[in-house]
Amino acid sequence: MASALPELRAGNVGNKTRPAGKEGREVTGITHAFAGLASGMALVSYYEAAPDVTALMLTASLIGSLFPDIDLATSKLGSKVKPVSTLIHYVFGHRTLFHSPLLLFALYGTAMHWVPAYQMYWLAFSIGMASHLLLDMFNIKGIPLFYPMKKRFHLAKIKTGGSIDAFLSIVFAICALTPLGRLVF
Ligand SMILES: [Zn+2]
Repeated sequence: MASALPELRAGNVGNKTRPAGKEGREVTGITHAFAGLASGMALVSYYEAAPDVTALMLTASLIGSLFPDIDLATSKLGSKVKPVSTLIHYVFGHRTLFHSPLLLFALYGTAMHWVPAYQMYWLAFSIGMASHLLLDMFNIKGIPLFYPMKKRFHLAKIKTGGSIDAFLSIVFAICALTPLGRLVF
Protein backbone atom coordinates (compact mmCIF):
# COMPACT_ATOMS: atom_id res chain seq x y z
CA MET A 1 0.00 0.00 0.00
CA ALA A 2 2.72 2.44 1.01
CA SER A 3 4.67 1.64 -2.12
CA ALA A 4 1.71 2.62 -4.28
CA LEU A 5 1.51 5.93 -2.44
CA PRO A 6 5.12 6.77 -1.67
CA GLU A 7 4.41 10.16 -0.15
CA LEU A 8 2.04 8.67 2.40
CA ARG A 9 3.33 7.20 5.60
CA ALA A 10 1.47 4.44 7.32
CA GLY A 11 0.30 5.34 10.79
CA ASN A 12 -0.87 3.19 13.62
CA VAL A 13 -3.36 0.41 13.15
CA GLY A 14 -6.56 -0.10 15.08
CA ASN A 15 -8.97 2.02 17.01
CA LYS A 16 -7.62 3.28 20.29
CA THR A 17 -4.06 2.04 20.35
CA ARG A 18 -2.09 5.28 20.12
CA PRO A 19 -1.46 7.02 23.45
CA ALA A 20 -2.89 10.52 23.74
CA GLY A 21 0.50 12.16 23.54
CA LYS A 22 0.93 15.72 22.34
CA GLU A 23 1.57 14.64 18.75
CA GLY A 24 -1.47 12.40 18.76
CA ARG A 25 -4.05 15.09 19.42
CA GLU A 26 -6.32 16.72 16.87
CA VAL A 27 -6.03 19.76 14.71
CA THR A 28 -8.20 22.25 16.60
CA GLY A 29 -11.90 22.54 15.86
CA ILE A 30 -11.48 26.20 14.93
CA THR A 31 -8.95 25.28 12.23
CA HIS A 32 -11.34 22.66 10.87
CA ALA A 33 -14.19 25.17 10.92
CA PHE A 34 -12.26 27.83 9.00
CA ALA A 35 -10.99 25.24 6.50
CA GLY A 36 -14.58 24.08 5.96
CA LEU A 37 -15.79 27.63 5.46
CA ALA A 38 -12.92 28.37 3.06
CA SER A 39 -13.80 25.26 1.04
CA GLY A 40 -17.46 26.25 1.12
CA MET A 41 -16.55 29.72 -0.15
CA ALA A 42 -14.84 28.17 -3.14
CA LEU A 43 -17.97 26.15 -3.89
CA VAL A 44 -20.44 29.03 -3.51
CA SER A 45 -18.35 31.24 -5.75
CA TYR A 46 -18.66 28.50 -8.38
CA TYR A 47 -22.45 28.22 -7.91
CA GLU A 48 -23.10 31.99 -7.64
CA ALA A 49 -26.31 31.15 -5.80
CA ALA A 50 -28.80 33.48 -4.08
CA PRO A 51 -27.78 34.76 -0.62
CA ASP A 52 -30.10 32.43 1.28
CA VAL A 53 -28.82 29.38 -0.63
CA THR A 54 -25.25 30.59 -0.17
CA ALA A 55 -25.78 30.90 3.59
CA LEU A 56 -27.19 27.37 3.77
CA MET A 57 -24.34 25.99 1.68
CA LEU A 58 -21.75 27.61 3.96
CA THR A 59 -23.58 26.21 6.97
CA ALA A 60 -23.49 22.75 5.37
CA SER A 61 -19.74 23.11 4.75
CA LEU A 62 -19.19 24.19 8.34
CA ILE A 63 -21.14 21.21 9.69
CA GLY A 64 -19.30 18.90 7.28
CA SER A 65 -15.95 20.25 8.45
CA LEU A 66 -16.77 19.34 12.07
CA PHE A 67 -18.76 16.16 11.37
CA PRO A 68 -15.98 13.52 11.45
CA ASP A 69 -15.06 14.42 15.03
CA ILE A 70 -18.56 13.44 16.12
CA ASP A 71 -16.76 10.20 16.98
CA LEU A 72 -15.11 12.08 19.87
CA ALA A 73 -17.36 13.35 22.69
CA THR A 74 -14.87 16.07 23.64
CA SER A 75 -14.79 17.60 20.14
CA LYS A 76 -16.66 20.76 19.12
CA LEU A 77 -19.54 18.86 17.52
CA GLY A 78 -19.33 15.78 19.73
CA SER A 79 -19.81 17.84 22.89
CA LYS A 80 -23.07 19.21 21.45
CA VAL A 81 -24.50 15.74 20.93
CA LYS A 82 -22.69 13.88 23.67
CA PRO A 83 -24.93 10.77 23.92
CA VAL A 84 -24.74 10.18 20.16
CA SER A 85 -21.03 10.93 20.11
CA THR A 86 -20.33 8.62 23.03
CA LEU A 87 -22.25 5.82 21.34
CA ILE A 88 -20.40 6.30 18.04
CA HIS A 89 -17.08 6.31 19.86
CA TYR A 90 -18.03 3.16 21.76
CA VAL A 91 -19.03 1.30 18.59
CA PHE A 92 -16.39 2.55 16.14
CA GLY A 93 -13.66 4.31 18.12
CA HIS A 94 -11.98 7.54 17.00
CA ARG A 95 -10.69 8.08 13.46
CA THR A 96 -12.24 4.97 11.96
CA LEU A 97 -15.46 4.95 9.90
CA PHE A 98 -16.26 8.60 10.59
CA HIS A 99 -12.83 9.66 9.34
CA SER A 100 -13.01 7.64 6.14
CA PRO A 101 -13.57 8.63 2.50
CA LEU A 102 -15.87 5.60 2.40
CA LEU A 103 -18.40 7.30 4.71
CA LEU A 104 -18.06 10.57 2.81
CA PHE A 105 -18.95 8.90 -0.50
CA ALA A 106 -21.67 6.79 1.12
CA LEU A 107 -23.34 9.85 2.66
CA TYR A 108 -23.13 11.82 -0.58
CA GLY A 109 -24.42 8.89 -2.64
CA THR A 110 -27.31 8.25 -0.25
CA ALA A 111 -28.28 11.92 -0.09
CA MET A 112 -28.15 12.25 -3.88
CA HIS A 113 -30.22 9.12 -4.28
CA TRP A 114 -33.03 10.39 -2.05
CA VAL A 115 -32.93 14.16 -2.57
CA PRO A 116 -30.94 14.97 -5.73
CA ALA A 117 -32.50 18.44 -5.96
CA TYR A 118 -30.35 19.54 -2.99
CA GLN A 119 -27.08 18.55 -4.61
CA MET A 120 -25.46 21.90 -3.78
CA TYR A 121 -25.97 21.29 -0.07
CA TRP A 122 -24.69 17.72 -0.20
CA LEU A 123 -21.67 18.94 -2.13
CA ALA A 124 -21.09 21.71 0.41
CA PHE A 125 -21.27 19.22 3.28
CA SER A 126 -18.97 16.82 1.43
CA ILE A 127 -16.35 19.44 0.64
CA GLY A 128 -16.35 20.49 4.29
CA MET A 129 -15.96 16.89 5.41
CA ALA A 130 -13.22 16.32 2.83
CA SER A 131 -11.33 19.34 4.22
CA HIS A 132 -11.49 17.75 7.69
CA LEU A 133 -10.12 14.43 6.44
CA LEU A 134 -7.34 16.17 4.53
CA LEU A 135 -6.36 18.28 7.54
CA ASP A 136 -6.33 15.23 9.81
CA MET A 137 -3.84 13.64 7.43
CA PHE A 138 -1.40 16.37 8.44
CA ASN A 139 -1.48 15.03 12.00
CA ILE A 140 0.58 11.96 12.88
CA LYS A 141 -2.50 9.90 13.76
CA GLY A 142 -3.64 10.08 10.14
CA ILE A 143 -6.88 8.65 8.79
CA PRO A 144 -7.96 5.22 7.53
CA LEU A 145 -7.83 6.25 3.87
CA PHE A 146 -8.94 2.83 2.66
CA TYR A 147 -11.41 1.96 5.44
CA PRO A 148 -12.56 -0.73 6.26
CA MET A 149 -8.82 -1.42 6.09
CA LYS A 150 -7.63 -0.15 9.46
CA LYS A 151 -4.23 1.13 8.43
CA ARG A 152 -4.00 4.90 8.76
CA PHE A 153 -2.01 7.29 6.60
CA HIS A 154 -0.61 10.71 7.32
CA LEU A 155 1.25 13.33 5.33
CA ALA A 156 2.89 15.32 8.13
CA LYS A 157 3.13 15.69 11.91
CA ILE A 158 1.44 18.97 12.72
CA LYS A 159 0.75 19.34 16.45
CA THR A 160 -2.51 20.59 17.88
CA GLY A 161 -2.33 24.11 19.15
CA GLY A 162 1.18 24.44 17.73
CA SER A 163 2.44 27.30 15.58
CA ILE A 164 1.61 25.56 12.29
CA ASP A 165 -1.91 24.82 13.50
CA ALA A 166 -2.36 28.49 14.46
CA PHE A 167 -0.89 29.60 11.14
CA LEU A 168 -3.26 27.33 9.20
CA SER A 169 -6.20 28.62 11.19
CA ILE A 170 -5.34 32.21 10.25
CA VAL A 171 -4.79 31.34 6.57
CA PHE A 172 -8.12 29.51 6.34
CA ALA A 173 -9.87 32.33 8.18
CA ILE A 174 -8.52 34.84 5.67
CA CYS A 175 -9.59 32.58 2.80
CA ALA A 176 -13.04 32.10 4.32
CA LEU A 177 -13.75 35.69 5.29
CA THR A 178 -12.22 37.75 2.50
CA PRO A 179 -12.41 37.82 -1.29
CA LEU A 180 -8.81 36.59 -1.22
CA GLY A 181 -10.23 33.11 -0.74
CA ARG A 182 -11.71 33.20 -4.22
CA LEU A 183 -8.27 33.83 -5.67
CA VAL A 184 -6.60 31.14 -3.62
CA PHE A 185 -9.15 28.38 -4.27
ZN1 LIG B 1 -10.80 14.55 13.05
